This record gives sequence, structure tokens and C-alpha cells, in this order.
Amino acid sequence: MGNIVGIDLGTTFSALAILNTIGKPEIIPVADGERLTPSAIFFDEEDGKTIRVGIEAINSRHLNAERSVRWIKRHMGQQDYRKLIDGKEWTPVELSGLILEKLKKDCAVEHGEMHDAVISVPAHFDEVRRKATMDAGAGIGLNVIGIVNEPVAAALYYATTRNVTGKVLVYDLGGGTFDVTIMDVTGHKMDIICSQGDHALGGIDFDAKILEILEQMYRGKLNAELITSDEDRAKYEDEAEDIKKTLSRRPVAKKMLYGAAGGMRAEVTREMFEEAIASLLSRTDILVEVALDEAELKPSQIDTVLLVGGSTRMPAIQERLTKMFGFAPEIAVNVDECVALGAALHAGLRMLRDNPDAVPPGIASGLKDISLQDVCNHSYGTLCAPVDKRTGRRVIENRIILKKNTPLPCEASQTFYTVSKGQSALEVTVTQGEDTTPEYVNRIATNRMELPPDRPVDCPIKVTYSYDANQRMHCTFEDMESQNALEVDLCLDKEGEAISDDTAEKNLDESKVR
Ligand code: AMP
Repeated sequence: MGNIVGIDLGTTFSALAILNTIGKPEIIPVADGERLTPSAIFFDEEDGKTIRVGIEAINSRHLNAERSVRWIKRHMGQQDYRKLIDGKEWTPVELSGLILEKLKKDCAVEHGEMHDAVISVPAHFDEVRRKATMDAGAGIGLNVIGIVNEPVAAALYYATTRNVTGKVLVYDLGGGTFDVTIMDVTGHKMDIICSQGDHALGGIDFDAKILEILEQMYRGKLNAELITSDEDRAKYEDEAEDIKKTLSRRPVAKKMLYGAAGGMRAEVTREMFEEAIASLLSRTDILVEVALDEAELKPSQIDTVLLVGGSTRMPAIQERLTKMFGFAPEIAVNVDECVALGAALHAGLRMLRDNPDAVPPGIASGLKDISLQDVCNHSYGTLCAPVDKRTGRRVIENRIILKKNTPLPCEASQTFYTVSKGQSALEVTVTQGEDTTPEYVNRIATNRMELPPDRPVDCPIKVTYSYDANQRMHCTFEDMESQNALEVDLCLDKEGEAISDDTAEKNLDESKVR
């Protein structure tokens, strides 16, 4: 059999881990010997067929920023994002596939076939982004046997390598995303309680703040622009990241800046940086508070705070958490690697559950005491049109069918009724979000269901949503009388097109389910 693989497909770095013969996860270095691969792509100028991925892409991007791609994870699931290179429009799924392909090919050189894999995603990734991630893996021939939330993967690794017990809060701040997850851990048994997060908050936003400081300094002193081309921007983005990392070790970072009016020496202090990122850090504080509220816990009831992700090396993060919880967070040696390592463990657990005969005895024995109970990360519902008792008129409302934080796997059904005599079709909508007001939830899929002719009003339609252990959702709308059922493919509408807000609005107006 091939290796059991876990992949951290990160915003700034990616990594691949496999389970060794006794079920312990190990990071596999790529061809250039690095344990982490920058999630960067560069399309060679001279030879259009050569696509560089990883450190080579980072080194080449100053040559031609137009042909370089970074931070593609931020665009995952965006149906209208395309990168145009030599007449070809690359989608986020294809571009992410290039990064996965580099990891898969490089690691296979020494370790053989990479086939069954679990890929990690931010806990707060929605259905569309999760599906896009699985598609990226499938597109390069990986059998994606599961998706795991990054903080859960990290905690899985921590829980199997050190003694953590009680209520554990995982604070995961990486290159592009932030997640906070609370879980109950007893030995190697982990029950997830809840997750919160922001898929657009991470290291690259802190780099951007430093870049702003550098541009302001240059303008202030030399009355000219520091950055006048995309190549300059690419260069100073790297300089900004370097300054940020220096400020995690020292109170001041110094750099020479060369812009339109010549060179100048710049000094950025930790204080300046922390002031610039204060509002971003407040967003993480709020999400921690929301997660604690959801778990019905006070900070004093948390036993351990685990740090995950390269950005947690910033002293400001550690100081904030110490103040909030009254004790210092636990810092892993390899905050950048624990997600891939945990994803490999998750892949092993998945194989043991679904295909135990394919797991070698040594690996099975290494995993035998580990158990993980995950939860559904969002609430899912549908739009319906009940009659408002006060006005007697129908109003469009979001009705939650599957509630957030329900243990996985789970399934829930609700019955709705047709609203008019002779109703020949239903416009069905799947929503994600907590509110009853349609404007405050995301519509993640729409479809049309044809109904038999000449029927009275009030025919029952059973709506069933289930959520599997892969953190993927399945939806069925069943006409109880004819027993016709419609399986809704998330993120595609009836024509197989990605849903846009316009389509969703149209379907909302025509909604005939209550
Ligand atoms: P990850 O996605 O976990 O690999 O985290 C990558 C992010 O961590 C990038 O934005 C890095 O710039 C950031 N990072 C790594 N080391 C440090 C450090 N010493 N101080 C601040 N940020 C860091």
C-alpha cells in the first residue's frame, strides 16, 4: 500500500507528513531539503512549460511579479478568481493543485507512492472552500480520504506527544488565517467543543502593516514613493516579513530602503509595529471571547492554551493570552509543522475506521488509543416562507436544520410544506449561518426541484442535512408523496454553475417552501 499522508496546505507554507512504521507522524522534506515549502508558484518567462513551486518560486518572483502567485488559499472557493498566464486562466483549485503536486512528487522520490491523504483546512473554512480543497487534491490524483480542521490536527499531534488534559484552547494564527478551537482532552481522547475563526487574518496582514510603515517613512523623509512597480512590491513584502520576524526577537529592526529618491535607513520598533496591528489583534481577542461564550466557559476554566502557526511567535500574542487567561500559553517546538503531523495522524485514524485491513499492524497499534470526536463547524438551514401571524403575509426566513457544534457524524431533518395549489416546482436554497434573517446568512447552494402536476397546497417536503466525519455536508430535499428526491450539490446550481448573489436573490423571491 501507499503511504498514509497528511498535508498542511497553508497560505504561506505547506508541508507533508507520513506515518512511520509505528504510527508516528514524520515531516518529509521536499527535493531541496526543506521541511516547509513556500506556497508560492512562478510561471517561467522563457520556458512557458516550466512552473516553479516553493522556494524557487519565491526567489524568482522579483523577476516578474505578474507571473508569480502567492497566498492562493485566500482565494480558495472564489468562483470568479482567475490568474491569466500565457492565455490560460488558472483557477484557485488548479493553482493549489500545483503546490500539492510538488509535495506529492518530491516526497514520493524517497518514500514511494503518495495516494491516500488528509488535507487540513482552517476550522472556519466554509463548505465551498472545503470542497475546493478536496478538488485540488483529487485534481492531481490524490485520494483525499478526509479533511481535518487545522487546530484539530495540531491538537491531535500535541495530545499524542505531550501531557495535555482538561479544557484546551488551541490558538492558531498562521500566514493567512486565524482559528480558535476549544476541546476537552483526556489522554489521547479529544472531544471538540467549538471553533471560531477568520479566514482572512494572519501573517500577511501583519506584513502589510509593516509595508505601510516603510512607505510612510520613505514618503515622510524623501517626499517620494518607495514602491513604484509590482517587482518593488514583491521585494518589500519580503523585507517587511523579515522585519516582522526580527521584531519577534528584538525591540528594533533596521533596513535600508531604496526607492524613487535614493536610499534611506529605516528603523521600525516593536512598539510601532504593535500599535499598527492593534486592531487586527483585537479581532483575534473577540473571536476568542465568542468561542468561550459558545463553549459556556470562562477564561479561568481553560486548563491549557496551545499555540499553533508561525505568527504565534510574536511576543504580543503571547503577552495578550497570558493576560487573558492568567497563565502563559504552551509553545510547541514546531508550531509550523504540527498541523501536517496531526493531519497524518488523522489520515491514519480515518484509514483504521474505513479500511482497517489496509493499515499495517505497526501503524494500527501506534494509533489504537487515539480517539477524536469532532463537531459541525457551522449551522446549516434553508429558506422558507412562513406566514407572519401579525400581518398574515408570508415572510422569507432562514430555518436552521443542522446546528453548529453538533458532534459528527450527524443528520437532521425537518418537514416543510408547499405553499400553493398546483405548485409545480420548488426553488431550494441551502444556507450557512446562525441568523433567521436571510440577509445575514450565506447561501451556499440553490437548485430547482420539479413537482408532480395538479397537487393541493401543503404537500410535505422533507429536508435532510447530514454532516460526515470529513467535515463535508450532504443535503436531500424529498417530496414525500412522490418520493422524488433531490440531492443538492453544494456550491453548484442547477446548471452546474457556481452560485452568484444574483441567482440567490432570484431564487429567494421565488421561494415556495415554507
Ligand atoms: P504558518 O502558516 O503556520 O506556516 O505561519 C506562517 C506565518 O508565520 C508567516 O506569515 C510568517 O511570516 C509567520 N512567522 C514565522 N515566524 C515568525 C516570527 N518569528 N515572528 C512573527 N511571525 C512569524
